[in-house]
Amino acid sequence: MFKAFSGGVHPREQKEGTKDRAISDVRIPLRVVIPMIQHTGAPCRPVVKIGDTVKKGQIVGRVAQFITSPVHASISGTVREIKEAPHPTAGKSVSVVIDSDGKDEWDTSLRGRKDAAGLTKEEITDIIKESGIVGLGGAAFPAHVKLKPPKKIDTVILNGAECEPYLTCDDRLMIERPAGVIKGLLLIMKALDVNKAVIAIESNKPNAVESIRGALKNPDIRLEVLPTKYPQGSEKQLIEAVLKKRVPPKGLPLDIGCVVHNTGTAVAIYEAVCEGRPLIERIVTLAGDCIKEPSNLKVRIGTSIKDLLDECGGAVKEISKLIVGGPMMGIAQPTMDTPVIKGTTGVLFLSEDEARFFDETTCIKCGRCVDACPMNLLPSVYAKLVKKEKWEKLDDYNIDDCIECGACSYLCPGRIPLVQYVKTGKRELFYMRKGAQ
Ligand code: SF4
Ligand code: SF4
Repeated sequence: MFKAFSGGVHPREQKEGTKDRAISDVRIPLRVVIPMIQHTGAPCRPVVKIGDTVKKGQIVGRVAQFITSPVHASISGTVREIKEAPHPTAGKSVSVVIDSDGKDEWDTSLRGRKDAAGLTKEEITDIIKESGIVGLGGAAFPAHVKLKPPKKIDTVILNGAECEPYLTCDDRLMIERPAGVIKGLLLIMKALDVNKAVIAIESNKPNAVESIRGALKNPDIRLEVLPTKYPQGSEKQLIEAVLKKRVPPKGLPLDIGCVVHNTGTAVAIYEAVCEGRPLIERIVTLAGDCIKEPSNLKVRIGTSIKDLLDECGGAVKEISKLIVGGPMMGIAQPTMDTPVIKGTTGVLFLSEDEARFFDETTCIKCGRCVDACPMNLLPSVYAKLVKKEKWEKLDDYNIDDCIECGACSYLCPGRIPLVQYVKTGKRELFYMRKGAQ
């Protein structure tokens, strides 16, 4: 078996609890809290006011910028408040709070295009933009921006790696909705004017591989089964594994003629274009040793984590750590009021044992973090420079190339939270550069 990409680690997969759990619907929440920032780029501004009646799929926030994405009501009802509310990645965000009317009625102006074959690439991209589609693998980059690259693209990679421990939402989607995955990919290929694509899946998802293989009829789309290794789902590592090419330092996939989209994004694109459904819900994996019924749920955007825990039968032991995302790149949450947003792949409810809290000790210069780094960086140097507040030096060591995968922290015998140091270093460097402008 070939070497997938340099560096990387093999964390415990922890997917057994949910990998055979079929996607199920949840009750319509009585209330949703819809943040105005759910994507990379300019935050939206509310375009509704308190007391307005809204329908499911109606736009409630938008802003006139290219790199942004509108947000939609995920239930029908009445706008109760517009306020700062908890946000899983930003801490707080202006959010539109909607109380359900119990009717769950769609905005009747929404129309699907069953005749998608007759759409131009510009029309497909415009529908995707208007439907608020963002990358559903967690990065939440607006999908329409990737469909209007400034350079010629020759290959699309559909990312079905799902390398984070615990998470199985993409796995289930590929098993249960292979036709949606492929139809979405064909729309992406058409929008990019590309006739070559690869669906890349890790070898620990044999059922997804079989499901996609069975549905794949187009000779222009190749299925690639990759050896399981973290962080294979990261764009640059996936490209290296599939195309045997490296994205240059500080570069983007499009610099080597490639665009990567997630499998969940492909299904969302199919639903937006062919069924007229904006992005108002997504699949979320609920897992961890504290939850009674680990699950894969189809969840309306804006549903609180508390509602999801209730949906899964509640907690069976004391929750010590609540994480949105996977354990490697996810973010710990201080409250269960946090809502699900477009980039929420999973929610983990972990006991103290499972969260494995360790105190930081000293660096023993073992070099394991360097060997693990898939970007060939020097994580231990970042920790040292950040502790000494030598922000300007971080640039010399290409800190911006760090994809924050956490592989270095995972292997460090000194339990040094290297990725936290990287985040702090990047932030301080950003402010230092801004101050110098
Ligand atoms: S330095 Fe960044 S890219 Fe390298 S292993 Fe650590 S988190 Fe991952
Ligand atoms: S893995 Fe940890 S202990 Fe080893 S060199 Fe890196 S920072 Fe130091």
